[in-house]
Amino acid sequence: MQRCRKCGAYSDHVNIHFDRMGICNYCGFYEKHRNVLEQKTALKNTFLLKMEIGKAKARTSGSSYDCLAAFSGGKGSAYMIWQLKEVYHMRVLAFTFGTIGHKGILDRLDIDHITFSQKGPFSYPAYLHAIDRHSYLIAGQNKIPLILNGRSRAKILQYADTTTGTEPFETAHCLREYDKQIFHGAGLAYPAYLSDGTDLLDDIGAEAISYFAYHDICEKDMIRSLEEKFGWIRPQRSHGPSGARSLSKKGELAFLVRKGELTPDQAEKML
Ligand SMILES: [Zn+2]
Repeated sequence: MQRCRKCGAYSDHVNIHFDRMGICNYCGFYEKHRNVLEQKTALKNTFLLKMEIGKAKARTSGSSYDCLAAFSGGKGSAYMIWQLKEVYHMRVLAFTFGTIGHKGILDRLDIDHITFSQKGPFSYPAYLHAIDRHSYLIAGQNKIPLILNGRSRAKILQYADTTTGTEPFETAHCLREYDKQIFHGAGLAYPAYLSDGTDLLDDIGAEAISYFAYHDICEKDMIRSLEEKFGWIRPQRSHGPSGARSLSKKGELAFLVRKGELTPDQAEKML
């Protein structure tokens, strides 16, 4: 089986192909756009501008919140919500799909929180769509202009080989675009039944933004700062249907190799 000479990804990777030098399309994309993706200050400024525009829109529409933020109970979303509130001074409504046992951090930050659920069992695509759809519904009902998610950089960029539909180059402004972005990021084909469905909420507009597309912080620093500030303890349970994690792990590890944080051998051992 062919293997990328740079990141070590194999030819069974989602939609992978190789150039004459044996470098994969995902490494090619990362190299081409490294100057944007690693420009920390410029990315933070882009994010700040998006937040300020969101605040202005919320004031105009009379919304009680500037953004809706996904809270899974994991470190990424906890860190994001903390930063949204204390660094960007956003009025945040946090939401969780399903039940959650670990919301002390939201109480500490005095963040309003809602949970919602839908009867399962879910396939992984149906689960992803249900979360996206509910978030647009809530944003529409409350006139909230921004929907924030705490996907990791690896999740956002692991299968990126075009700037179209890829943050930070392009954001989604409706459920249809957001769904496509989330599916592409997870390495999944966009299910046809979603395109012809009547539940795509085309009348609701909100900008969907991934916090970590604009903030490059390593996992260790994130956990350490959460521990210091909140006495954070890593939740034990995993999120989403089983299998979802291992499905994406291969791509996420290849991304870390591309970025220079792991060697191909180290990534291989972690699988
Ligand atoms: Zn590669």
